[in-house]
Amino acid sequence: MTKQADVIVVGSANLDTTLRVCRVPAPGETLLASGSSVTPGGKGANQAVAAAAAGGKVHFIGALGRDSAGETMRESLRSHGVDISGTHLLQAPTGTATVIVDDSGENLIVVNPGANALLSIEHVDEVLAEIEAPVVLCQLEVPLETVRAAAEQNPGRTFVLNPAPMMSADRLASVLLLTDILVPNQSELAQLTGREVPTTLDEVTDCVNGLEYRGAVVVTLGALGAAVFQTVDGAATHVPAPIVNTVDTSGAGDVFCGVLAYGLSQGSDLVTATRRAVALAAESTTFHGAQMSSRNPV
Ligand code: ADP
Repeated sequence: MTKQADVIVVGSANLDTTLRVCRVPAPGETLLASGSSVTPGGKGANQAVAAAAAGGKVHFIGALGRDSAGETMRESLRSHGVDISGTHLLQAPTGTATVIVDDSGENLIVVNPGANALLSIEHVDEVLAEIEAPVVLCQLEVPLETVRAAAEQNPGRTFVLNPAPMMSADRLASVLLLTDILVPNQSELAQLTGREVPTTLDEVTDCVNGLEYRGAVVVTLGALGAAVFQTVDGAATHVPAPIVNTVDTSGAGDVFCGVLAYGLSQGSDLVTATRRAVALAAESTTFHGAQMSSRNPV
């Protein structure tokens, strides 16, 4: 039987361990941590949670191990109201990220993709065929061929791509051809175009106008909000961010993408959907944590 959803997120899920230290250790050095925390993460899972917290009926398609980290991730996604029936359980470790962060905010991160690297085209094709949803949202923490398969199986769906972590524009070209809305941050846009990181709206516009890609683009600009381009050769509509008391920006881009995808699924135009995404992403920076910081967690 076909299932109905607002947004399908195809992507990664990681269990993140954060160790707090007085300073980032040098190679070969052993330091004692002053504290630690374990939190659900991974761009796919973060974005799915944000879309659900914004009000969406969300399906997450990803790969997890049959281990305690996988069980924690499943519980977390379920507790946020995300449908995980399309998640593949594998004989591989669940993806993990280990973050070492010092008092000044400097950090070191090591990601072990684990099961995320094994999310297969066959699995995504099979699950996508069973779900009707107007929007599919992907990032690049699962194999590129799998992302391409998700983009291809898209009759009448809007395909939104957050190109993070960014790879070479050449490798990404075949997926960009299938993308309706591209959502990079400033450094991802720089990598896509081979230019310096654009810092002003004019520089961002120049970069976007130089893209080979032909769809719409929404560039996130941190504290400046976002710039919406209905076409790559058009002008920007700037959506400023509210001034908030920011304590932690990690995961803000994920909140933005999840909320944007949900808005589009409800028929909002791109600028209107961006306004809500900017507002909720800004609010998410007023709390600690990458995933739980989206507003109204269910
Ligand atoms: P990423 O997390 O991918 O680097 P950005 O830094 O561009 O992405 O942030 C994504 C969104 O989060 C922005 O468009 C904005 O809405 C919000 N945001 C991020 N940093 C701030 C901030 N300091 N003040 C207000 N909003 C912010």
